[in-house]
Amino acid sequence: MKSEKLFNESQNFLPGGVSSPVRAFQPYPFFAKKGEGSRLWDVDGNEYLDYCLGYGPLILGHSPEKIINAVYSQMQKGTTYGVPTKKEIDLARMVVDKVPCADMVRFVNSGTEATMSAIRLARGFTGKNKIVKFEGSYHGAHDYVLVKSGSGAACLPDSPGVPEDTTKNTLSAPFNNEEYVSELIASNGSDIAAIIMEPVMANIGCIEPRKGYLKFLREITAENDILLIFDEVITGFRLSEGGAQEYYGINPDLVTMGKIIGGGFPMGAFAGSREIMEFISPCGSVYQAGTFNGNPISITAGLNTLKELDSTFYRDLNSKGKYLRDGIQGILEDNNLDFSLVGLGSMFQIYFNSKRVYDYQDAKNSDIEKFRVYFNNLLSNGVFIPPSQFECCFLSQAHQKEDLDETLEKIEFALKTVAD
Ligand SMILES: *Cc1c(COP(=O)(O)O)cnc(C)c1O
Repeated sequence: MKSEKLFNESQNFLPGGVSSPVRAFQPYPFFAKKGEGSRLWDVDGNEYLDYCLGYGPLILGHSPEKIINAVYSQMQKGTTYGVPTKKEIDLARMVVDKVPCADMVRFVNSGTEATMSAIRLARGFTGKNKIVKFEGSYHGAHDYVLVKSGSGAACLPDSPGVPEDTTKNTLSAPFNNEEYVSELIASNGSDIAAIIMEPVMANIGCIEPRKGYLKFLREITAENDILLIFDEVITGFRLSEGGAQEYYGINPDLVTMGKIIGGGFPMGAFAGSREIMEFISPCGSVYQAGTFNGNPISITAGLNTLKELDSTFYRDLNSKGKYLRDGIQGILEDNNLDFSLVGLGSMFQIYFNSKRVYDYQDAKNSDIEKFRVYFNNLLSNGVFIPPSQFECCFLSQAHQKEDLDETLEKIEFALKTVAD
């Protein structure tokens, strides 16, 4: 097995054998050789139907010809300039046209940078220090948001190396709980700069907001001069052209984007009203900078990806999502399996949990061992989903009906194996 060998070798040079932690699944991750459309191939020649899709960016599937050609042609003209390009305006205009809360955009290099900068901006704009995040939400790997989920207000760092001084201003609240947020604001309101949230929590599986919850948060933040930040690094350009804010009809003050916006290349962005965004340097005094910000390669890939994403695109993509979820629901019912299917649009996950999941604690009650059996069974039958109960599976435009039917057969087999 070449993958196994490579994993042994990689552990000598890369901590844990990987460049980002979730990739190090047991007994060893497969090493990719090629991706095309809905499929991935590993160095041993195995083929996988891919529902991880790079953890979300690849909404057109692997190596879409249009994007590759556009990037190739840009590469021949240079890869980074240190001065602006017209394409940055074109992509910013496209984001502004599609995303309801966006008047202006700052391009950065990752989702992590986007949330870090948006939080700094919210603090600079409001002159307040505290932020609220939700238990089980993920906003990247920087210090402000690496807070132990589930430990309640006055949060402890989630990682050695993050000083308590950094996270003492990060409060955390259970998702989908109005009372808790009301009380948190009643006792800290005048110090809270922003609530940052994933409108659909997609880093703890897939948890939708209860009906009315986003509206409640929009109103209570507006009443208390708190900015509402939607972290749409996953939901942006995933749920609809305008992301979750359009899907649910709730406008945040700021939005952070990543994953899809880079068209398969590294990029992030944050956006909001002109009034707030003009606080960013060099226009305003809240500092944000980056050597590769707005680099022409990622911008070209993003621009050409976003061009493909119109209402017809989402109708087709979301109907594939529905087809797959309906199929899985049928399998669960036919086999009397007491697991919990979740998802919307082109997102889905199965919680190995007989109860419906509304927050972090519910999600954590799922049976991880059953998930492991399910994951391994799918993998050995050529279906790759993210290797954790607490990630979300994605579909791309490249997934065809035959792919979905093949996947359903394999999911049925895997679920029966879990039940045995
Ligand atoms: C992936 C993710 C991030 C971090 O983005 P990176 O590009 O990995 O830094 C932030 N927020 C959410 C919701 C994410 O899913």
